[in-house]
Amino acid sequence: MVSPTPPDSMAIVMTTDADTPSPLANALTTWFAAEARDLPWRRPGTSAWAVLVSEVMLQQTPVRRVMPTYRTWLDRWPTPSDLAADSPGEAVRMWGKLGYPGRALRLHACAMAIADEHGGTVPERLEDLLALPGVGDYTARAVLAFAYRRRAAVVDTNVRRVLTRAIQGRAEPGRPAGARDIALMESVLPVEDLDAAGFCAATMELGALVCTAGTPSCSSCPIASLCAWRLADFPAHPGPVARSQRFAGTDRQVRGLLMDVLRAADGPVPAEALDIGWPDRRQLERARDSLITDGLIDPLPDGRYSLPS
Ligand code: SF4
Repeated sequence: MVSPTPPDSMAIVMTTDADTPSPLANALTTWFAAEARDLPWRRPGTSAWAVLVSEVMLQQTPVRRVMPTYRTWLDRWPTPSDLAADSPGEAVRMWGKLGYPGRALRLHACAMAIADEHGGTVPERLEDLLALPGVGDYTARAVLAFAYRRRAAVVDTNVRRVLTRAIQGRAEPGRPAGARDIALMESVLPVEDLDAAGFCAATMELGALVCTAGTPSCSSCPIASLCAWRLADFPAHPGPVARSQRFAGTDRQVRGLLMDVLRAADGPVPAEALDIGWPDRRQLERARDSLITDGLIDPLPDGRYSLPS
């Protein structure tokens, strides 16, 4: 029978003893050891660069779409210095149809900074990672935890959802709250480096596979007996439910179609090549101009267009 009120969930999930992982950490990491997906960036021997590439690609893009590009990218550029020696346009070309291609440019700029300022090695300190172009709080902490096995509070959408439900007893996390989200994760993060890194990976995986946004699988959840939201009988979210954004007909779709033309070409294309027959001419021009503004395509003096050089 479900308890009408949640127990003191913080007491259940927290521990102050470095040698004794909390019940929450125990349950999550045991489950993760048995159920974690075999993903290439999790395998032993994966370089910090490969972890960084995977984390950038996985932002806003599902695992199954990332996998092929991740492999081809690292085959071609196994180190930051390899990518830094190539052009940003090739990075954009290799990004393929992952979406949000500005990430390819930022990864290229990041590789240049690693090559120039860190001798080609992905740095191991949070402040150095945060100083890299395009590396935000999430990515920096993910590299620390998953590449260097350090204690770092890694908080993505999945982690926020799990912690909101399991610890705070609410259905939805609401808008990202930066420092507050990190503080919540810190409050339950195991003390030891390896335990903490494993806890972060396990919490993310639970959010991806079990404690999903739409229909959480509470009957197969390893922390069901500790979950404050379940123990409170799943109180409804009081605010509006976040809806997924449509893609068809948006400027994003048009930008993607224009990038397809440039990626498929061996070199610069004439202006007519970007006249892709999109019915809304103003939207087409707006999409093209925004790609130029974002540095994803270069307008050449002779009227042609190319990927950035
Ligand atoms: S019991 Fe349900 S709501 Fe709670 S953490 Fe598990 S899957 Fe999520």
